[in-house]
Amino acid sequence: MKSPDPRTFEVKSFGCQMNVYDGERMAELLEAEGLSAAAEGEEADLVVLNTCHIRERAAEKVYSDIGRLMKRDQAPMIAVAGCVAQAEGAEIPRRAPGVDIVVGPQAYHNLPELVRQAARGERAFDTAMPPLSKFGALPARRKQGPSAFLTVQEGCDKFCTYCVVPYTRGAEVSRPFGAIVDEAKALVDAGAREITLLGQNVNGWRDGDGRGLEALIVALDAIPGLARIRYTTSHPNDMTEGLIRAHAEVEKLMPYLHLPVQSGSDRVLKAMNRSHSAESYLRILERVRAARSDIALSGDFIVGFPGETEAEFEATLNMVEAVGYAQAFSFKYSPRPGTPAATMEDQIAPEVMDERLQRLQAALGRHQLAFNQASVGKRAALLLERPGRKPGQLIGKSPWLQSVHLETDAAIGDLIEVELLSAGPNSLAGAQLMKVAA
Ligand code: SAM
Ligand code: SF4
Repeated sequence: MKSPDPRTFEVKSFGCQMNVYDGERMAELLEAEGLSAAAEGEEADLVVLNTCHIRERAAEKVYSDIGRLMKRDQAPMIAVAGCVAQAEGAEIPRRAPGVDIVVGPQAYHNLPELVRQAARGERAFDTAMPPLSKFGALPARRKQGPSAFLTVQEGCDKFCTYCVVPYTRGAEVSRPFGAIVDEAKALVDAGAREITLLGQNVNGWRDGDGRGLEALIVALDAIPGLARIRYTTSHPNDMTEGLIRAHAEVEKLMPYLHLPVQSGSDRVLKAMNRSHSAESYLRILERVRAARSDIALSGDFIVGFPGETEAEFEATLNMVEAVGYAQAFSFKYSPRPGTPAATMEDQIAPEVMDERLQRLQAALGRHQLAFNQASVGKRAALLLERPGRKPGQLIGKSPWLQSVHLETDAAIGDLIEVELLSAGPNSLAGAQLMKVAA
């Protein structure tokens, strides 16, 4: 038993934006219980490691973090939350006896009770997966930065053969329409000017009346004070005509789409159980571009899926050239225990994966720079989000999700009109033109 009565806490979130959202919600829960967030540099009495299980390296990180925490003069109470908690459960304290609490992503509304159990020296585990019940048990949203996440859909029924999400986050479930709109209004009241709707398959969101994500986007569009709407992550198969049309019709919906493709080879896509082909993916993007010609496209890629040949990898490079992504995330395939691909034959050698990832990232980097350079000279609205490195400098996001830094006397949370002046691979510089009316 340690820290019998934790007063301060720290939540460290790893992995996807849904974990960032969950981490914020856990912090709100702990604050509602009277704990306070540890100050910068202060050692918290309770540390929540909100973990990611998507790739081996992410999953192993939690154990090195626990080791580091246990070396403190006064070891904190340690809670492992997130997808590693769900996937490894009771195995975690066996491997890392310093862990006091294990709580899965569908059970974290019970965190305060688990903290009390741990403080009494009792077993504090909860990896139950009751869909959605946590949302009803969470406290009100608190003060927000200008850009907020809002989880609308969880879980996944797609079962891509490499992926642990269907096992750690459970079946696809959509939160009710009214609850989402209420939370969006609360976020705006708390200071948010941009909301990103989140889900593992966010565009698979449906409600009992058959409404799809575009209906939610239209409802958010009507919230006064909200200036921008985004959504992520989408699956190609759920990219409906209605949602594509929303990109043409809803002004607050930003011209950005993250649509993972994973591979450009149809054989690999089939082995991944992706249920789209390279061609059908490209056709979807054509329709999206027809609706919104300036849309910035982003994607996810995996190199070195079992059996991937050089020619199949080159098909992925061809996909990159065909699409011209504005941004992208690319990963080496990581075998995950319990997934079908982990036991497939022809696992690819690490050095082959390294070499392919380098080539892929070089191509993606080239396109990202080209996209940024093509923005130079444009006028755009910028949502100011955080301080820049130099005094008087702030960093904001363009409609295309580019980071833009500039000198300005405007404040964080303001939307200002800028001209984009110069571009690098990861950010742009801009100059303020005039303040945009709120
Ligand atoms: N649901 C989303 C989708 O289907 O695109 C994203 C889910 S996942 C959190 C984010 C990305 O991680 C995936 O798009 C994929 O590129 C990558 N990923 C998932 N499992 C992986 C694995 N076993 N090895 C390497 N990358 C993986
Ligand atoms: Fe994982 Fe595929 Fe579901 Fe995305 S669609 S979460 S990659 S199983």
